[in-house]
Amino acid sequence: MNRIYYTRPSITQKEIDYATDAVTFGWGDRCYEYIVKFEELFKNHLGVDYAIATSSCTGAIHLGLAALGVGLGDEVILADINWIASAAPITYLGAKPVLVDVDKDSWCIDYKKIEEAITEKTKAIIAVHIYGNLCDMDELIKIGEKHNIPIIEDSAEAIGSVYKGKKAGSIGEFGTFSFHGTKTITTGEGGMFVTNDKALYEKVLTLSNHGRSKTQTKQFWPDMVGFKYKMSNVQAAIGCAQVERIDGLIDKKRQIFKWYEAKLKSLPVKLNPENEDCHPGYWMPTMVIDENVKFDREILLKEFKDNNIDGRVFFWPLSMVREGDFIQRNPNPVAYSLYKRAMNLPSYNDMAEDEVDRVVKCVKSTLYCRDNRA
Ligand SMILES: *Cc1c(COP(=O)(O)O)cnc(C)c1O
Repeated sequence: MNRIYYTRPSITQKEIDYATDAVTFGWGDRCYEYIVKFEELFKNHLGVDYAIATSSCTGAIHLGLAALGVGLGDEVILADINWIASAAPITYLGAKPVLVDVDKDSWCIDYKKIEEAITEKTKAIIAVHIYGNLCDMDELIKIGEKHNIPIIEDSAEAIGSVYKGKKAGSIGEFGTFSFHGTKTITTGEGGMFVTNDKALYEKVLTLSNHGRSKTQTKQFWPDMVGFKYKMSNVQAAIGCAQVERIDGLIDKKRQIFKWYEAKLKSLPVKLNPENEDCHPGYWMPTMVIDENVKFDREILLKEFKDNNIDGRVFFWPLSMVREGDFIQRNPNPVAYSLYKRAMNLPSYNDMAEDEVDRVVKCVKSTLYCRDNRA
């Protein structure tokens, strides 16, 4: 029985050819060629004015928050259910993450819980489109405008996700993406900062290059203390090939989700929600077991392991894994109920329908096994 990975990149001859070209010829005068091309292709895909390739999404968030002026003693609001990469850059700047509860259907930040967490120290709200599901951007933008707080989109998981006709990451003050090997498109490690705000773009560009302004004519003259979060030309070459294939990569994510949806239909589970306004990119097909059904995710993890399938648990509440580190003003009951009942399901580009069947079989046998029956 072959191993079923929870995710795996799709690398074709195109990626190999571009990377080979970059590593052979992409030096000296040509050392930025693929980086510039990758930024152009990604901008066109997303429909934004400015993009900066970075070494990671974590770095892109750090740069963007720094450019917005987030600093010592400030607060930044985000959902309690998240990977720590969305919260860590806040702490790099001496600010504190403030964790609010999630919506039970979208698993993203619950906009109705945001205003009670806002203080005069709140400098930004990070909307993370978790597992490719979409945050309620209209409501978030409304809250942002009312309180004069920028809304940021961490879209690392939301390539292919579309909210009311706009691509995730193109709506807020700025958006960030990750091209880590597990994401929908990859450069091994890598990220992207995107925005439609020219001044913000220029500030981040300067910060990303050790504070050297594009207009500075003196050599080795930093105009401020910045960071070093640049992507290499070889990585960007792989990225160019991936963006050229992006529609197909997104289509396959959707296809795999549709397989799961059809095969899990009769079970007491909910999958990533889709409606007229919100079309997820389905980076990670995810199921949440209904509350009235007894479920222990350890049993499913063991079943997966016995069948040579990677199991991947839903993110824990950050307030649980880093208890005391971050601010939590109110209880987050949805987050604390959700994570225990949820699991990500494997999906990678060359996954076949019979592999989806193997995963579904494990889910079924776990839900109906003796230990799990109520
Ligand atoms: C993967 C991920 C990140 C981190 O990306 P890196 O490129 O590894 O820094 C940040 N935010 C979210 C939502 C992610 O899924």
